[in-house]
Amino acid sequence: MDLKRRDLLRVVVVGGGIGGAELLRNAATKEGLELVLVEPKDRIECQALYPDYLGGEIGVEEMTAPLDPFCRRMGAAHLRDRALRVDFADRRVTCEKNDLDYDILVLVPGAVQNYFGVEGAEKAFTINTLEETVRARRFIERARPERIAVIGSGPTGVETVCFLAARPGSKISIVEMMDRLLPTLSKNSSILMEKILSGKGVEVLTGKRVSSIREGGVAFADGTSLDCEMTIWTAGIRPAPLIEGLDLPKKKGWLLTDQYLRVQGREDVFAFGDGAWIEIDGKLATKTGMEAEIQAKHTARNLARLARGAPLKPYSVRASTDSPVALISTGCGCAVGIYGDLCVPIPKRIIYTFKSWIDKSFVKRFK
Ligand SMILES: Cc1cc2nc3c(=O)[nH]c(=O)nc-3n(C[C@H](O)[C@H](O)[C@H](O)COP(=O)(O)OP(=O)(O)OC[C@H]3O[C@@H](n4cnc5c(N)ncnc54)[C@H](O)[C@@H]3O)c2cc1C
Repeated sequence: MDLKRRDLLRVVVVGGGIGGAELLRNAATKEGLELVLVEPKDRIECQALYPDYLGGEIGVEEMTAPLDPFCRRMGAAHLRDRALRVDFADRRVTCEKNDLDYDILVLVPGAVQNYFGVEGAEKAFTINTLEETVRARRFIERARPERIAVIGSGPTGVETVCFLAARPGSKISIVEMMDRLLPTLSKNSSILMEKILSGKGVEVLTGKRVSSIREGGVAFADGTSLDCEMTIWTAGIRPAPLIEGLDLPKKKGWLLTDQYLRVQGREDVFAFGDGAWIEIDGKLATKTGMEAEIQAKHTARNLARLARGAPLKPYSVRASTDSPVALISTGCGCAVGIYGDLCVPIPKRIIYTFKSWIDKSFVKRFK
């Protein structure tokens, strides 16, 4: 396939979140690329700071950066539009307002909340998008709920609970379907987190499958229920709707890539970040901002290689599911660090300072 059909290789990037924005930042310094971003939002958002925002620790400005000035500085065009479908034969993306041709397509539309078909769950609060997080914080400030239930005890659920527990006046419960907190991380980290949360007066409910959510409470599959005035759903993600409609190889619904982070069987389509299934040499990449950033840098270098006709270099997964890395804020200016089976035994200020510095400098680099 002749990839380059004009002087510059036209790279259309779908999704200006952590992966897409970091790709632009790195690709902008390379020769031979014309960069076009398709993203309906007007800000780059650092989701890692949503729990801090929910807890009232920071404002919107500290966790977002405006996209248009950033794109201008990068020499990239920003189409404030939503991609709807792709014609892979004609190499054309159809958006709500525009159609555009590409030489290379980079798909980084991320993921959306998964409610697993639980009745009423879509009406619960979430902190998966900026809009939803702002809505949740406003509700807390206005209604001052006495009882809050957080569903899901991955890093996001646990951080949410820690920030909420730091605010006086609410009784917080965390609900987990599996038999331990942080089920995707090590058993040591689950034991540590249970101790931390209990110390904060949080009610920990493990082995509890939510069967429905209604106004005023949560019902469980075992017939019991929990009364609460606010439910925040943090349990699970699924691919962005765009991905569901694309006729491309997938695994469990995620875009399946090869070792160069191209969609399998396609020379002209790359995919990475939360929307992709990246499994190389037996290592499956975690869906984290940290991993998406490294994938973005690698893809930018491979795009530059394509532009000058050089061979691509394979990617090697850094944060894999068998040895996950996590920095989890535990509120009150402290955090814990987890790497595989290892975790620091008590929350430390220095770890929170480090995590906060990483997250905030992520936002600053786009300003
Ligand atoms: C509350 C929360 C806390 C987190 N904390 C951490 C943390 O502490 N550390 C960490 O490493 N990771 C964390 N993560 C995960 C991290 O945010 C994601 O892994 C990362 O954002 C993935 O980057 P991405 O570019 O693939 O997707 P995103 O950053 O989600 O960006 C996807 C973008 O694509 C756009 N898009 C979607 N569909 C279309 C379309 N059809 N057309 C055009 N654009 C589209 C969206 O508007 C969005 O801007 C957290 C996530 C959440 C929700």
